[in-house]
Amino acid sequence: MRLVLVGPPGSGKGTQAKLIAEHFGIPAISTGDIFRRNVAGETDLGVQAKKFMDSGDYVPDSLTNAMVRERLAEADCEPGFLLDGYPRTIDQVDALDGMLSEQGRRLDAVVELVAPADEVVPRLLLRAETEGRADDTEDVVRRRLEVYAEQTEPLIDVYRKQGILLDVDGLGEIPEVADRIRAALEGVSR
Ligand code: ADP
Repeated sequence: MRLVLVGPPGSGKGTQAKLIAEHFGIPAISTGDIFRRNVAGETDLGVQAKKFMDSGDYVPDSLTNAMVRERLAEADCEPGFLLDGYPRTIDQVDALDGMLSEQGRRLDAVVELVAPADEVVPRLLLRAETEGRADDTEDVVRRRLEVYAEQTEPLIDVYRKQGILLDVDGLGEIPEVADRIRAALEGVSR
């Protein structure tokens, strides 16, 4: 199963990614988490990524694509993977396409977690209090939503035209949303 999970900041992607990946026995790969680990470890990549992340902007495609290429080459991705937070730009869509077609593979499905902005902003501000993520302040949250609308929403149409998009309502309790995603994926052929 090769899956992508897409949705606005605060839509619950990270939580759902872990549940779905566990269900299918594949790794959940979160580019946001990998970047945050690199920032915490003060690696070269982390130092370069930090300034973009802190302002709510995307890390440049060249850095992001190289990082994902390395991650997907690891052995645990052989049976499949779930990408959470990648691709986020058209350039990343093309890069991922290239990585997969080199191996004669393609995506099985793209799940869009649908959640309106007036629902996700309060969730993110609440998370700011509980998890203390540097990019959850109100200004940066607004910027992240803007960047999502500008750079990531167009991807949804690309995947819809390819016939692999599944949209799932992201509102409700965590297990309820997870059930919806599993149900949507049931019909996907591999
Ligand atoms: P969000 O809740 O905003 O979706 P993530 O944890 O997925 O948060 O990502 C946090 C930050 O990491 C993003 O705002 C961005 O700066 C960076 N990032 C994550 N994934 C990507 C990507 N695919 N391309 C560029 N930047 C990314």
